[in-house]
Amino acid sequence: MDDVRWAVAGLDIGGTTINATVLDSGGRFLVEEMAESPSFVQEGPDKAIDAMARALDDVLELAGVPRSKIRAVGLDTPGPVSADGVLSSRGSTNFANPAWYGFDVRHALEVRAGLPVVFNNDANAAALYAHYAHFGAAAAGLRSSVSVIVGTGLGGGVVEAGRVVRGAAGMAGELGHIWIPMDGLLGPDQPVPVCNCGLPGDAESVASLTGIEKNLLPHWLAQFPGHELASQPAHVAAKLVRGYGEAGDPMALKIFEQQAIAIGRLLTIAANFTDPDVYLIGGGVVEAAPHFRDWFLDQVRAHTQLRDEQAERESIGLVPDLDMAGARGSAIAARAAIMAVGRPS
Ligand SMILES: [Zn+2]
Repeated sequence: MDDVRWAVAGLDIGGTTINATVLDSGGRFLVEEMAESPSFVQEGPDKAIDAMARALDDVLELAGVPRSKIRAVGLDTPGPVSADGVLSSRGSTNFANPAWYGFDVRHALEVRAGLPVVFNNDANAAALYAHYAHFGAAAAGLRSSVSVIVGTGLGGGVVEAGRVVRGAAGMAGELGHIWIPMDGLLGPDQPVPVCNCGLPGDAESVASLTGIEKNLLPHWLAQFPGHELASQPAHVAAKLVRGYGEAGDPMALKIFEQQAIAIGRLLTIAANFTDPDVYLIGGGVVEAAPHFRDWFLDQVRAHTQLRDEQAERESIGLVPDLDMAGARGSAIAARAAIMAVGRPS
């Protein structure tokens, strides 16, 4: 591509796959579809850093951009990880190989690729992409958003004036682990849900796949004796609940209603904390059939308490292209870092 002055790449590193993209200096993505390759993360840093370097070469070839035009690489991984890309000293679900404990993945790729590497955790990268996709590149720098992404856990990010709020220790925007009120959310005799992080009654303990498996499904199956899902192992049943919800199954609707209440209460906290221009919701539950997605978003709205001045604005949207959001958000962060160099702050 001769008309590309310069460009950046984005690499989203998952437990099994890397997704990669290229973004030009004008803010245009040069890869339309998914550019996936194996991440080899389970096999430790040596093989995984090799895989990242290879994914970078491959996506540049796919985009037709010579390496000499690349100014930086955006990188994301799942957490827990520090703001500048040092993995947790205690390991994590995806980086369980002990060679990863305390490993500086950002620095390792920087050395290997010979390019500056800009790091974000995967939820923050996805939130940044959602923000730019919602507002467009021209307005993104003037606007704020809070993104909530419901997956295995509850991830997300806070974007203020187009930049991710990282926090002093890199732990801002950990929306899943915000404590939310449980009264009026839980049914009679329903135990207070507990999160993997140890908190009872945080947002993720309800609004996540893990929350369904460990907390919501065991309770609601007991309220609906003879339900078909009772015959499935818990981790299988948890994944099937969404399909039942789409089909109008009363037990599944109870589960998703509780998730929507939890998210609405989380957004209510956000409304009083950063008062963003928009709330963006992503994950399986909003990638479901449109009638079910709309019902779910209506439930979230009904449980989000906004002031009149806030409610006048159309304020809940979707996180689009979630499977590409990490790579694209990482590239956006890298481009922003290059553009900020030399610019008076
Ligand atoms: Zn938690």
